[in-house]
Amino acid sequence: MVRSGGARIVMMGPPGAGKGSVSERLADNFGLVHLSSGDILRAERASGSELGEKLKKYMDAGELVPDEIVTEIMIKAISQQDSSNGLLLDGFPRTVQQAQRLGEALDKIALPIQAVLLLDAPEEVLIRRITGRRICPKCGRVYHVDTMPPVNDSICDLCGTKLIQRDDDTEQVVHERICLYHQETEPVIEYYHKLGTRMIKVDADAPIDEVVSRAADRLTRIGLLESKERPA
Ligand code: ADP
Ligand code: ADP
Repeated sequence: MVRSGGARIVMMGPPGAGKGSVSERLADNFGLVHLSSGDILRAERASGSELGEKLKKYMDAGELVPDEIVTEIMIKAISQQDSSNGLLLDGFPRTVQQAQRLGEALDKIALPIQAVLLLDAPEEVLIRRITGRRICPKCGRVYHVDTMPPVNDSICDLCGTKLIQRDDDTEQVVHERICLYHQETEPVIEYYHKLGTRMIKVDADAPIDEVVSRAADRLTRIGLLESKERPA
């Protein structure tokens, strides 16, 4: 379970902004636990469970999985982690109702979210990033055909598995996902704003190392990350 001391940060931004890529690097560099709702839901699907079958229809269509299902899965995942060094939530909460339920769960242990890290990029950049995204179905590592290709064509650098394209990473589905982001997820920004949670906005239309360094600098400056552990 989360204990005091570590930063508790929600990553927000439209699909393709780079939440997963930035979270993965910040987690590696600073020893934080990174929990991605998309990865956790995809693992449930891959398990072939009855719940996984139910998730498929929402996810492939680019729709949001119902709040009750996601909230239960994510609060369970959070409670199973020892994230005393810090927690990065990526892709959750994605609706105001999810944010309220998460808040109630964290309030019980007196450990509220301390900051929202908001990544953004122009829509044409998001579409190029999503349609070019490839993932490793085994270890979950994320690549891009142009901007972050693997060393060997279509093969994961870490585990050697053949990369795949997600079923929902098509141009048609991406428009639906971006639209849902504006309708359902942007109000979460206002929700945290009203609670007085720190809002850190980072322009994500830059090379990944630059985006990570901007985010790390901002989080260090407000004392949520330790500067001594910053990447060189
Ligand atoms: P999100 O989790 O916000 O949907 P990802 O981190 O999965 O976004 O990134 C989407 C795609 O864009 C991936 O293919 C990733 O390799 C690529 N990408 C992410 N950040 C950058 C960046 N700053 N510059 C170029 N490509 C990026
Ligand atoms: P991206 O950041 O590229 O939009 P994710 O991997 O975070 O993609 O999510 C993929 C899909 O998983 C979403 O389109 C949605 O169907 C489902 N999903 C992930 N997180 C949530 C959430 N918090 N609430 C509802 N559905 C979710």
